[in-house]
Amino acid sequence: MTEPKRSPLLPLDDALARLLAVAAPLPGVESVAVGDADGRVLAQDVVSALHVPPQDNSSMDGYAVCCADLGAPGVLLPVSQRIPAGASGAPLQSGTVARIFTGAPVPQGADAIVMQEDCTSVEGTSTPQVQINVLPTPGQYIRRAGEDVARGDVVLASGQRLGPAELGLAASIGLASLNVARRPRVALFSTGDELVMPGTVAPQDMPPGAIYNSNRFFLSALLRRMGCEVTDLGIVPDQREATVQALRDAAQSHDVILTSGGVSVGEEDHIKPAVQLLGTLDHWQIAIKPGKPFAHGRIGAAHFLGLPGNPVSSFVTFLVLVRPFLLQLQGARQVAIKTVAARADFTWARPDKRREFLRVRRNDQGGLDLFSNQSSGVLTSAVWGDGLIDNPPGCAIAAGDTVRFVPFSELLT
Ligand code: AMP
Ligand code: MG
Repeated sequence: MTEPKRSPLLPLDDALARLLAVAAPLPGVESVAVGDADGRVLAQDVVSALHVPPQDNSSMDGYAVCCADLGAPGVLLPVSQRIPAGASGAPLQSGTVARIFTGAPVPQGADAIVMQEDCTSVEGTSTPQVQINVLPTPGQYIRRAGEDVARGDVVLASGQRLGPAELGLAASIGLASLNVARRPRVALFSTGDELVMPGTVAPQDMPPGAIYNSNRFFLSALLRRMGCEVTDLGIVPDQREATVQALRDAAQSHDVILTSGGVSVGEEDHIKPAVQLLGTLDHWQIAIKPGKPFAHGRIGAAHFLGLPGNPVSSFVTFLVLVRPFLLQLQGARQVAIKTVAARADFTWARPDKRREFLRVRRNDQGGLDLFSNQSSGVLTSAVWGDGLIDNPPGCAIAAGDTVRFVPFSELLT
């Protein structure tokens, strides 16, 4: 199969749009305990069956009062009841106050809480009394019923990715389980005869030309963070028949087959012809740096995704293309990367014609520093950096310029 010599580079947004157009959400919904749902994507709206908080309650330890009963500061009133959190008080008797604690329901008839620091309790009388030293404003220190969530509210929408705060909110309306999209099953292959698995050959015994397989480890970790079930199928043997067999088997029991390496133009490689033999393959040269080669195909019902082999290309291409794809398979609403404005504290005088993703780190002055070596093989840049600048094609950067930044903390979850 001959490849066109120099096909025009495909803009990243076009590549992403094409990829997302075929990323139909996977069928199948799972009910998962709220405590196990971190990182999953909600498959239906969550509607609250109650108000949160359920009743008006006190946000302070102090006294529940009726403002109209108070008169002037220093007024002395009997304490007619005591309402700890978890109790339900009786209606407040007129001309009295109720001792109340944080989280306890405000008794009917009370319209403010005076915090205990603004009161002096008077012992020694048959009924306890309290002197109110500071007059409250009506409503003071009362958390209103439903101020967090009202009954009938959609508190979490279908397609929402669940994190710690979402799990807490689901629990606050009494849910023990949530319906979430099923995990994509992903088969992961590495390609390349030069690759050696760490642990199989000691560094001092590595033959010339051999390198350790690093992509396998970050890709597997990235996939798991994206909610996928990963089958790591190791390094594909460098033989046509074995490659075809491995891909055919993987396609039967996986939603996605992800490979790294061997998608560069003109590469002598068995993955591409094997995918073409078993299904279909679209091979793209994408106008990004690091990155460029990328492939999408189908083998039966399974998607095939081919990443470049250079570690940083593989890493970045995963983040900008594969991550949104996997989120969409799970029905997530927010799949595109979201950049924020930030200040560059460096100069980038010779930009590439392609859209660049520069590895940078936030400094203490609120700006971004650039890693000195932006080569696509230098994985140190992704460790040193804490995010990427999304730099438009051909755009030089001067110190002080505003750039678009996306932190890894956003992309790696
Ligand atoms: P390729 O895309 O196969 O042409 O590979 C490009 C570069 O990435 C070559 O220098 C490969 O040795 C390197 N490479 C490919 N796969 C891996 C991997 N799994 N781990 C580390 N480096 C890799
Ligand atoms: Mg290779």
